[in-house]
Amino acid sequence: MTTNPPQQKRPRRIFPFRRWWALLIAIWAVWLMQSVTNGAADRVIPYNEFKQHLSEGSIQRCTIEEGRIRGWIRGDEETSAIEESSADDQGTPFETVRLEDPDLVRELQDAGVEYRAIPPDPWGALWVWILPVGLIFAWIFLLRSMGGPGTQAATFGKSKARIVPEKSISVNFNDVAGCEEAKSDLKEIVDFLQSPKRFTALGARIPKGVLLVGPPGTGKTLLARAVAGQASVPFFSISGSEFVEMFVGVGAARVRDLFEKAKAKAPCLIFVDELDAIGRQRGVQFGAVNDEREQTLNQLLVELDGFEANSGVILLAATNRPDVLDRALLRPGRFDRQVILDTPDLSGREAILVVHAAGKPMASDVDLQRVARATPGFTGADLANTINEAALLAARRSHQEISAADLDDAIEKVVAGPERKSRRLSEREKRRVAYHEAGHALVAIHSKHPDPVRKISIVPRGKAALGYTLQTPESEAFLQTRSEILTRVQGLLGGRAAEELLAGDVSTGAQNDLERATALIRQMIGVHGMGSRVGLLHCARPDHPRYLTPTGVGWTRDCSEATARAIDQEASELLQEAYEAARELLTAHQEELEALARDLLETETLDRERIDEILSAATNRGSVRDGIC
Ligand code: ADP
Repeated sequence: MTTNPPQQKRPRRIFPFRRWWALLIAIWAVWLMQSVTNGAADRVIPYNEFKQHLSEGSIQRCTIEEGRIRGWIRGDEETSAIEESSADDQGTPFETVRLEDPDLVRELQDAGVEYRAIPPDPWGALWVWILPVGLIFAWIFLLRSMGGPGTQAATFGKSKARIVPEKSISVNFNDVAGCEEAKSDLKEIVDFLQSPKRFTALGARIPKGVLLVGPPGTGKTLLARAVAGQASVPFFSISGSEFVEMFVGVGAARVRDLFEKAKAKAPCLIFVDELDAIGRQRGVQFGAVNDEREQTLNQLLVELDGFEANSGVILLAATNRPDVLDRALLRPGRFDRQVILDTPDLSGREAILVVHAAGKPMASDVDLQRVARATPGFTGADLANTINEAALLAARRSHQEISAADLDDAIEKVVAGPERKSRRLSEREKRRVAYHEAGHALVAIHSKHPDPVRKISIVPRGKAALGYTLQTPESEAFLQTRSEILTRVQGLLGGRAAEELLAGDVSTGAQNDLERATALIRQMIGVHGMGSRVGLLHCARPDHPRYLTPTGVGWTRDCSEATARAIDQEASELLQEAYEAARELLTAHQEELEALARDLLETETLDRERIDEILSAATNRGSVRDGIC
């Protein structure tokens, strides 16, 4: 029995034809360079002109080589043409092709010319030709292997997707915490990739595309990798912006190339990050870049339609702007499934912290639930960053383990930015910042603010804060009452009220407080129907869905001028009332306010325990003075 040898793939030619063109061009370039440089250095003259100069005695000196004679001609009127280019006193350089001339040496001798002969250089050809050509070739190869600009023509239409083979994906569902619903939505995809027959036998059609929607840092990329890792399939990862170039048609070619590669590796997963970079609604913008983007999107739609539902290629895409996506992308048969990833809740945060703390030495005083409680609004990426910052701090402090204090400091760094020790405040400014922060803290403490005060500091942090009062909620709150909003506003205005009370004047330090307080009050009246003038009228609509930013939405006015004026009037009155309430409260507790500010000036940072100590000491002093004790 004979067996045919297995068909072998033809190896790629190492030196394809096109590169010979490169060689020819390189040789021509070297020749051109040499003729230009030679011509530039010496004037080439005919042999008879050389002989004439020799007989006239105007040759100064020369060197005789195997095929040419080079030298200098003394300047005089008759050689004026040459003189024009004369560089210095040496005369004018010249070069001529050497002919068979037995009398040459005698004539040079007679004319008294200083001459010398140069023996032929055996390496001449190497220096003159082979080395430059070799260098040019090495340069071309280097560019090709680096994928540099010289290679772009060949690789323009190739997709830039990073391909991770199944064995190299170390992430699975256990590494993604706090998003159980998203994981269970994607479990079906994993099952399909692992055993497609189970689905096809029942005639089930698995979604071709799944859109992961959520604010930055909520684990969209991580989850996509985990799906590939869990299913043990190759992972193609690319960002939407990597498709788009300046040239129309390149993005579409890249999309085609990506799907071709993926189909060859099926079952596999394609992940397109920032889908909105190519998937924006068509026909709303104009220009060359937009044409290119629209063509790329069209090609993506074609590819999504072009492969069978159960072909084994699944497209996952991530975006934080689902509102701007073209509707064609979201219709059934394309991205017909959306998985929402939001900032995690308390238990989610704790689970994420547990994942990131695993494998790191934690001291016995660390309570991850307490850390989770202190980090509302943190995304998975923020929490991962917090644990990492704590580890860095512990290492800097030469600890063997990460302690609770390291974690507390790391949270502060993530919330308020790094300490800015270089920002030097004058004593007067420092005192004012201490009054301001003590004011915030005291109003929050006495007005039963929903978020208890944890720390006050007058160490400048981040870009703008000269000091800060750290408040974290006891538990997750999904609703806020009117009185809670007003209490928050009072807390925000406490800083300015304290400045006025203790310093007798106000400063620009309250700008951010005023901005936030005004936004809260305006929303309270115009969005939540809690005002008395416009009643239940909903007067603003969100700028974009809340996925865009983890901190919230912007609002666009959606009411008449008269209503807006009424809202502003009521907002201004409510702000003034809240300010008066904060001022009254601080006046009633002025002794505590001064004590807090004094201590803050001395130690720069006060934690809750110390704040309580100071407040009770001040209360006792006050009671003794008033004779109540
Ligand atoms: P996105 O793609 O949504 O911007 P990433 O997936 O890039 O966010 O998340 C960045 C990092 O944050 C991840 O590498 C991981 O360390 C951490 N992270 C985010 N979400 C989670 C989560 N749910 N569980 C564990 N770690 C997470």
